[in-house]
Amino acid sequence: MSLLVVGSVALDSVETPFGNVKEALGGSAVYISTAASFFTAPIRLVGVVGGDFSKKHIEFLEERDIDLEGLQIIEKEKTFRWGGRYHYDLNSRDTLFTELNAFERFDPVIPLSYKKTAYVCLGNIDPVLQRQVLEQIQTPRLVLGDTMNYWIETKPKELTDTMKVMDVIVVNESEARLLTHEPNLIKAAKRIIAIGPKVVIIKKGEHGAILVTNDTIFSAPAYPLENIYDPTGAGDTFAGGFAGWLAKTDDLSSENLKRAVIYGSSLASFCVEQFSVDGLRDLTKLKIQDRYRSFMELSRFDER
Ligand code: AMP
Repeated sequence: MSLLVVGSVALDSVETPFGNVKEALGGSAVYISTAASFFTAPIRLVGVVGGDFSKKHIEFLEERDIDLEGLQIIEKEKTFRWGGRYHYDLNSRDTLFTELNAFERFDPVIPLSYKKTAYVCLGNIDPVLQRQVLEQIQTPRLVLGDTMNYWIETKPKELTDTMKVMDVIVVNESEARLLTHEPNLIKAAKRIIAIGPKVVIIKKGEHGAILVTNDTIFSAPAYPLENIYDPTGAGDTFAGGFAGWLAKTDDLSSENLKRAVIYGSSLASFCVEQFSVDGLRDLTKLKIQDRYRSFMELSRFDER
């Protein structure tokens, strides 16, 4: 089934203890679309870049059959740039700079050909813009949304309004606690469900993710990797893998939501093994399937 992805398209400069990249392809919409492209088509991207956005990045997305009709190119502007530095403990990072550029006045216009998209994945943008996107789509089958501390702190009312129309929300541990003022993550998830989303996914970095609905609690480990080079985009890649699997199967049962969590986790594990989108560049469906099976082995045990 079709999947609409809205979010940032960026040039990221990232430093980790294991290396660095300058102005590499990034942004939530890029990670989400790329991850989802392993499962479903068409993927329709809505975002904005400046005239300096390289042709090779466009080709990277086109090669994955990502529809770019909704990618606005504003020639006189520069592309959104973000810089981050990770510490030895790759769970924490400092934002070095955020240059919004063309993204500052992002007006997500949904092309006519995108209006009947079945699955919608809203990357982390202003909740007012997320809402505007949904108003332009005709009765989507599933809406998945992401957010961040900045919106929770600066636009709590607008975020709550948008959450009412999300079916799935993906947040990390600190965002879940900030959103609900509840330290226990299961209670926090239930409070989020009371606001609107029927499915809450809380990402816990190297400790995996939990999925909570009214009748299910599912805990998935993170893949135990020995070499992690760059965690940038892991959360978005998880969301893209999760949404892509659901769009492919069009099955919203509890069992299939669990599979989607493991596919999301599998994709995220490849993402962090290299800088920028490189971990997803040469990935194949076979490698994803192998990792999915390794996940099954990781926490399989019997009764005795
Ligand atoms: P994640 O590691 O999942 O938090 O996602 C990192 C990606 O988010 C990077 O590729 C950045 O370009 C992008 N990003 C960072 N800050 C922002 C922001 N304020 N709005 C939208 N995207 C952002």
